[in-house]
Amino acid sequence: MPEESYWCQTAANIPRVYSASSLSLLSECPRKFQYQYIDGWTSSGENLDFIFGTKLHRCLEWYWRRILQWGYSLDEALLETVHVAMTIGLDMPEPKRPNQEGKTRKGLVNALIWYLDYWKNTDDPSDIVMLGENPAIEMHFEIILPLINPDGEHYKVQGYVDQVRNWSYGLTAWDYKSTNKEPNDYYLNQFDLSLQCAIYTMGMRVLTNEPITTFMADVIGVETRVNNLPEKIPVAFMARKPVMLTEEELDEHLLDIQVMIKSQERYAEQGYWPKNTKACLFCDFRDICKKSPPLREAFLKTEFVKERRTSLNRRKE
Ligand code: SF4
Repeated sequence: MPEESYWCQTAANIPRVYSASSLSLLSECPRKFQYQYIDGWTSSGENLDFIFGTKLHRCLEWYWRRILQWGYSLDEALLETVHVAMTIGLDMPEPKRPNQEGKTRKGLVNALIWYLDYWKNTDDPSDIVMLGENPAIEMHFEIILPLINPDGEHYKVQGYVDQVRNWSYGLTAWDYKSTNKEPNDYYLNQFDLSLQCAIYTMGMRVLTNEPITTFMADVIGVETRVNNLPEKIPVAFMARKPVMLTEEELDEHLLDIQVMIKSQERYAEQGYWPKNTKACLFCDFRDICKKSPPLREAFLKTEFVKERRTSLNRRKE
């Protein structure tokens, strides 16, 4: 199958497709969007947070699929999923920062067992919606925007959402999140105005053809606690944050997306993506932006690797 280009044919620096992550980055800082998505600079080291989150997602997908597609009992699915976690946890990179100490193979297994045990009296496998014969797990969606790109096609927003569940507020776009600490209100409140929540909710509407207005951030925080034992034990903390969106709020998010993409067209035409210096505190490109403009490219080459995206065929960002 021929690969579809990620970029517009008539405009080299304008993507045909956006994701919740790329749009969030564009709204956070256009320069960061340029470095990461237009130029393709990524950190040369391994991203443990991303790797841990991906493995935890895979384990939970495995668990629910074994129950809903293969007919396993909860205990059989748990046993096999723990085995999977122990296997895929073998190549986990070493934590480099103190707040990543829980993100180890043991942390992965603990997080999985503690999560499933914590919610065992709340979660019913039949809450996961069936679309035909398949459970609504790891669902790819595509939102066609009412906005035309320089090639004359509609821009699209694509992504994956972990599940669709029938929950107390009706059909809900459900997404797992992992973090490095016990999720507090400050952490959970970020989802109230999150563009990602709105995009996943809109994506699930397209897929199910149902008026879904609820998103659930299902958060697993992993950190280490000493507890007077000779070694630090990775422990998991669970929290769920539902976000209810009105039709008007979803419409507003859709408008925001289009305005952002029009701004990105302008930046691409002028070849300049402005900085947002209010967003620099935890940015990986902080040391680059501190350098004088003529020196930046050389420093980028020493600290990052360039992998500019070419094709649309790629898994979850
Ligand atoms: S350091 Fe600041 S200005 Fe530079 S890319 Fe990051 S957020 Fe943007």
